[in-house]
Amino acid sequence: MQWDDSLVDRIVNAVMERLGQPAAQSGSGENLVTPDIRAGRVPVGVSARHCHLTPEHVEILFGAGTKLSVFKPLLQPGEFASEQQVTLVGPTGKTLGPVRVLGPERKASQVEISLTDCFALGLKRIPPIRPSGDHRDAPGITIVGPAGAVTLQTGLIRANRHVHLHLSQAEAMGLKDNDTVHVRIEGERPAVLLGVQVRAHKNFRAQLHLDTDDANAVGVKSGDLATLIKSL
Ligand SMILES: [Zn+2]
Repeated sequence: MQWDDSLVDRIVNAVMERLGQPAAQSGSGENLVTPDIRAGRVPVGVSARHCHLTPEHVEILFGAGTKLSVFKPLLQPGEFASEQQVTLVGPTGKTLGPVRVLGPERKASQVEISLTDCFALGLKRIPPIRPSGDHRDAPGITIVGPAGAVTLQTGLIRANRHVHLHLSQAEAMGLKDNDTVHVRIEGERPAVLLGVQVRAHKNFRAQLHLDTDDANAVGVKSGDLATLIKSL
C-alpha cells in the first residue's frame, strides 16, 4: 500500500473527528465550546465610547425616517456598529466625538463612556459604573447629530466589566448568568481584573467587554485572550 501525504491527512482528520468530544451545538450547528473555552479563555472586545438610541432619537439626530444602517456587524449576533455617529456635549460646552451609534435601536437611549472621556467632557457629575440597561443614578448628556440634538435626562453610564457567553459556553465553564468572575490578563502589563459580570444567553458569543480605560491600563486590544478565574 502506497502512503501519500493526502491519505495521511485524511486519516488524521478522521481520527481527530472520532476523538473529538461531543460538542455543544448552537442553533446553526456552530461548535461554540472550543478548547479555549474549556480552558476558560475568552477573546477581549474593547468597547470604545458609544451610544444606543431609541428610534425616536435616531430620527431627531439624523432626520425623519432615518433608521440605523450597518457599518460593521459585531460579534454578538444581531448587533452592529452603525454608520451613524454623534457628538457629545458636556456642561461647559466641551465636546467629544465622533461617538459611534450601535444598533439595533433600543427602548431607551444609553451613552457609554470611559472615565477619561468624562474628564474630556468636563463632567461635574461622574456617571456610575453600571451594567447595560441599568440607569439607576445615571445622569444625562446632550447628544448632537447632523439633523438635531437630544438632551437625555438619564442613561449616561460607564459600562461595567462583563463577559458575554453562550449558555453552552457558560455551562462548560461551570458558570451561569449574573455570576461574578475575575479575569487574568497576560502580556506586557499582566493583571487580574476583579468583579467581572457574567452575561450568559443563548444569543451571546464568548467575549470579554472592557472599556478603553481598563484595556489601556492592562495593555490589551480586541482579539487578545483573557482567562476567567472563578476564585482567587
Ligand atoms: Zn457587552
